[in-house]
Amino acid sequence: MAAGRLAAGLSRGLGRGSGGIIGGRVALLLQPRLLENLAAGKQIVMITGTNGKTTTTEMVAEALRSRGSAVSNATGANMLDGHVAALLGDPQAPFASLEVDELHLSWVTERFEPAVIVLLNLSRDQLDRVGEIRTVEQNLRRALRRAPGALVVANRDDPNIVSAAFDHPAVRWISGGVRWKHDALNCPRCGAFLGEADEDWACSCGLHRPPADWTVTDEGLLGPDGQLQPLELSLPGQANRINAAFALAAALDLGCEQRRVVERVQSITQAEGRYGQVLLGGRPARLLLAKNPASWLEMLDLVAGGGNRLVLVVNSREADGHDVSWLWDIDFEVLRGRSVAVSGDRAWDLAVRLRYAGVDCTVHSTVDEALGGQDPGEARPDVIANYTAFRDLFARRERV
Ligand SMILES: [Zn+2]
Repeated sequence: MAAGRLAAGLSRGLGRGSGGIIGGRVALLLQPRLLENLAAGKQIVMITGTNGKTTTTEMVAEALRSRGSAVSNATGANMLDGHVAALLGDPQAPFASLEVDELHLSWVTERFEPAVIVLLNLSRDQLDRVGEIRTVEQNLRRALRRAPGALVVANRDDPNIVSAAFDHPAVRWISGGVRWKHDALNCPRCGAFLGEADEDWACSCGLHRPPADWTVTDEGLLGPDGQLQPLELSLPGQANRINAAFALAAALDLGCEQRRVVERVQSITQAEGRYGQVLLGGRPARLLLAKNPASWLEMLDLVAGGGNRLVLVVNSREADGHDVSWLWDIDFEVLRGRSVAVSGDRAWDLAVRLRYAGVDCTVHSTVDEALGGQDPGEARPDVIANYTAFRDLFARRERV
């Protein structure tokens, strides 16, 4: 543990990053069973899915803190070394809220049994790196088989998640609707056509949409007892209301009090910069992360109808996935009539896509240039960026 902390400290001191990954990696090399040892006696919530992991992990951590100290890897280091680093942060904390990469949950449940496993959603994401959704779903199913004692909190509106959690002995089902349905047209188990994923369906193979325990409504969260819990989040968008339902269900299972959990979750204004107000080159902007078709759809919903300047930034580096064919899966047509500026490594790919969508855009070599020339009094622009573009903008933001 000391060696891990030393490595993390050196990494930070040398300005090479937060040190979360290298610290965990060094500690794991010296003690391969460190994760199991650190997890022993703790109540740990693992959060996975394609979209919303980081924000939901932050919500769960904040909710658990209503009962005691909780560590979390909300910085996005979501593999085993990141988990070790997070747990090393406060080995005495009774709770942990840990985001885990979809393909790494099975590595976790090989090592210890979490108290709660949150399964948010599965959609196409970096096909060249993560692989097909069916493979991910089967991997999650295997992971849950190794954790029969964990409570699973799962999305009943995503047939891939339904299949992953269906056979588990203890599941709380969340319902909030889905925007992106192109990965959920067929039964994940037998391939039969399902129809609408967020309407009741029952496949001849036995898989069916289970009844909801928690339903997200316009007013709040309808609970298993039939009571409506009002919900007024500081974070925008329906996706975050659904994330909050997952966090509440997980925290209640660990003995947290509903009123206090809701208060804490409502007060969250950003998670690792997502949705945050930032200054870029001296200009205020709202920074939004979108990294795959499903999350682009959520973010475009969020900015739709606004008259403010919109900057879209797309890179295609290692962590983004090199393939950008997914740009053609997104309905950029909703942006018609807006003034859109694009930037990033793949600005021209994006510009071509926007041209076919009938959206006027200008191409800029930097985000500063794309934001430049604002009139005083102009409404604050929105910047939607994919993973490395977002990370770089967040890292060089000025004081908020
Ligand atoms: Zn089926």
